[in-house]
Amino acid sequence: MTYPVSTEQAPHSLIGAALATPALRADRWLSVLSVARRWAESGAAESRGALTRALADLKEFERFFAYPGAALLDRLNGWLDDDDAKAFLRLAQRISTTIVSKKYHRDVNAWSTDEQEDDPLNRLPQAITHQKNTPYFEVLSVVPHAPSRWKLIHEEVAGVRRPEDDFVYQAVIVGNAPDALTAILLNPDIGAVVLYEGFSPDGSGDNPLLDVFRSVIDISPAGDDEIHVIRLAQAIRKIRPELDLYLLSDRNIESLSGRPESRIINRIFYQMEEPLELHLSILEGIRRRYRTPFFDNLKRYAQRPIATFHALPIARGKSVFMSNWISDMGEFYGPNLFLAESSATTGGLDSLLEPTGNIKDAQEMAARAFGADHAFFVTNGTSTSNKMVLQALLAPGDIVILDRNCHKSHHYGCVLAGAQPYYVEAFPLVEYSMYGAVPLRTIKQALLALKAQGELHRVKMVDLTNCTFDGHVYDTRRVMEECLAIKPDLIFLWDEAWFGFAHWSPLLRQRTAMGAAAALTEELAWPEALAAWEAQRKALGDAPSDQVLLDTRLVPDPRAVRLRIYQTNSVHKSMSALRQGSIVLVRDVDFEHVESQFHEAVFTHASTSPNLQIIASLDVARRQMQLEGYGLVANALQVALEIRRQVNSHPVISKYFRVLGSAEMIPDAFRASDLKDYNDPEMSWAKAIRAIKDDEFLLDPTRMTLSCGHAGFDGTTFKNILAEKFNIQLNKTSRNSILLQSNINNTRSDIALLIRVLIDIAMQIEQKIAENGEASRRAFQNQVRELVEDLPTLPNFSRFDDRYREDATGDTLHGDIRRAFYDAYNEAECEYLLLDSEEVDRRLQSGPELVSANFVIPYPPGFPIMVPGQVITPGIVAFMRKLDVKEIHGFNRSLGLKLLKRTAGDGAGA
Ligand SMILES: *Cc1c(COP(=O)(O)O)cnc(C)c1O
Repeated sequence: MTYPVSTEQAPHSLIGAALATPALRADRWLSVLSVARRWAESGAAESRGALTRALADLKEFERFFAYPGAALLDRLNGWLDDDDAKAFLRLAQRISTTIVSKKYHRDVNAWSTDEQEDDPLNRLPQAITHQKNTPYFEVLSVVPHAPSRWKLIHEEVAGVRRPEDDFVYQAVIVGNAPDALTAILLNPDIGAVVLYEGFSPDGSGDNPLLDVFRSVIDISPAGDDEIHVIRLAQAIRKIRPELDLYLLSDRNIESLSGRPESRIINRIFYQMEEPLELHLSILEGIRRRYRTPFFDNLKRYAQRPIATFHALPIARGKSVFMSNWISDMGEFYGPNLFLAESSATTGGLDSLLEPTGNIKDAQEMAARAFGADHAFFVTNGTSTSNKMVLQALLAPGDIVILDRNCHKSHHYGCVLAGAQPYYVEAFPLVEYSMYGAVPLRTIKQALLALKAQGELHRVKMVDLTNCTFDGHVYDTRRVMEECLAIKPDLIFLWDEAWFGFAHWSPLLRQRTAMGAAAALTEELAWPEALAAWEAQRKALGDAPSDQVLLDTRLVPDPRAVRLRIYQTNSVHKSMSALRQGSIVLVRDVDFEHVESQFHEAVFTHASTSPNLQIIASLDVARRQMQLEGYGLVANALQVALEIRRQVNSHPVISKYFRVLGSAEMIPDAFRASDLKDYNDPEMSWAKAIRAIKDDEFLLDPTRMTLSCGHAGFDGTTFKNILAEKFNIQLNKTSRNSILLQSNINNTRSDIALLIRVLIDIAMQIEQKIAENGEASRRAFQNQVRELVEDLPTLPNFSRFDDRYREDATGDTLHGDIRRAFYDAYNEAECEYLLLDSEEVDRRLQSGPELVSANFVIPYPPGFPIMVPGQVITPGIVAFMRKLDVKEIHGFNRSLGLKLLKRTAGDGAGA
């Protein structure tokens, strides 16, 4: 078997192929199709030869899929043997269309070997598929039987189907463990796995695909005495934790069930038992994930005749549909929206603020799906989720290590909680006027500085954004390990507003908060963890210098560590939830001690009228990801990789535009692997693996920074052109770039549209320069230079003014942002200075210092260049003066900078 790269249609790099594994199937078919087309047109023998090889290659992969199945593939081979190029092309076309459109999920005719002939074995029963929308999936059977007997297993599967089944499935059969893992990597339709005891633990021949994954994620569990089934089950869980696992055994299953490791298997059956029992269990397992307790109940609620006497006239829609004036709203949304509205928490609707019924149930399901212990639905966005977590866990005076470049909800959260931010800086990307993420060394330095000042006990939390707006992904596990080595009870808040989807990519999952939490929980329980800590302690001695601590990859003392990890996630940003649908995920060993605080924080921030449709959509988004997230996410990654490749390799587009790769977005120091770009064809596997596993920062492929400065556009102008002229919407820009994002909603047609538009724009530029001669060329070049060369340095956080620092003599960086924020409420204590005034320059030179009264957040870049109580430096003023964006929150150009007077906050102390 060859690794699925370098098909004719789309040469993929290895790392790209690994990230998008299940999405590459269509490419393999498209490449067969293009050769088939050549053969049909030319009849050339060499095309036929190429096709023979391509088909053999394809068959190696297609055995891991139920559709098209052996019969259809044999037929295809038959046309090749018969030398019938036209018939071959026709059938290949039909099969690839069916695969790409997923028609075999819905249409029984897709399975027939040709128009006239039916192979009953390959058919789904008419009665079932003709029921509306019966969801389809595939079951992987790992068997010890000889392939000649696999037909019987297929028959058995067909034999137990019943008309009343709510789902329908086909079997995919493999004979050994490596093939089983390959199948679950390649085939996103697989929803359950049946292990027949006695299957072979080893495959025949090389399996490069598996070797790749084995080296990146630990899918070869330790412990030689364990039986094969448990080893395989553990490996499957590492790749796709959502799958149900069943074991058919002919041994003493009671003793097997007693082994703690066997809990990983959903159910164990005697091999002799009724196949119907297995069938029913498989359906039950899918039903468990399919179930959406809140949404299901809401649908039932909407069907009931209910008279409402609560305050929400729009519920049931009568005020809408019977109106002369607003009935178009009813027509637009349809009746269900109104039938599903209620302000009651009775009638089985449960209460988001005090859930005891189906919302509680739905949250528990979400927690399991996302790999957390607890999940809380939030209907006011992650902006609110962040504030809830900060308030719940921090008290006034507590210190939080905070990325200054984080979303504003964290800064405001600190104001509300009275927590003191200790700002740490992300590395700057001056060339693109944006920030990256915070280096681990900077975080450790902050902790060590606070330790030296005797303040470490006050540091409660490290709060970071993963991934950042522009796609920088942390090595979450390493950050937590090293920080916990310095302070073992630190709480981590990972703002994963953008990154929720990553749980459904086995490679990216390791870099999510919950993925790392699972790995850490496991790792810290091993005896090796303690041994490693003891060895490090011995090596470093009793009082290692800060320099040594900074230069060492620290390991924590597993006996002291309290793992307390929180993740906030804008489900609406990467999954199918309505806007503002967000979730807080918790893995905190001390959660019981903060649970009541947590509820207080929920009560503080949540609306008492939470939107029912948002709750329902969170429930549904979870269902979707558990049943098809693996394939959808791979597709989103594939779309992104393809856009990156096409933009950067197109002869005209690439003269003016470029999607930035890792080399441009992540400085060398944080990229030990030297991975330059996901589509770098030169890249070795070793490098790719090192990048995914160990680079300090990895770029999320789905977040594509498209530089447009060389096309003479600033980000905002280009964004507006795309929106107004081409109906392409996006939201983030920098001075000379725009951010494109792909998600589970994108298709190949979107790639084509985008490329088309970029070609048009690039051609227009070429034409304009060609028509208008030298003067126009020079003007264009000047414009480009201004955009790509003349960029202001990004100002770092300076410091809080002395009056907001407890130890004004020391060099503490944290400050009382809350007091500064409220001092500004006293208008008499505030003053304004026009940004361009000489007074500003005079004060910068000879004082008194300028102290900002409020947050000043320009969009772009969207981070606060001033926070309340912060001393304004010449660098900040220079940046502000150079900034040519219109939208600056907290700054009114005609009033000027809002400053706290010298007297503000004096003496009062509160
Ligand atoms: C969008 C975003 C938020 C806020 O989330 P909403 O769901 O829009 O309220 C918080 N943090 C980050 C990093 C974000 O990108």
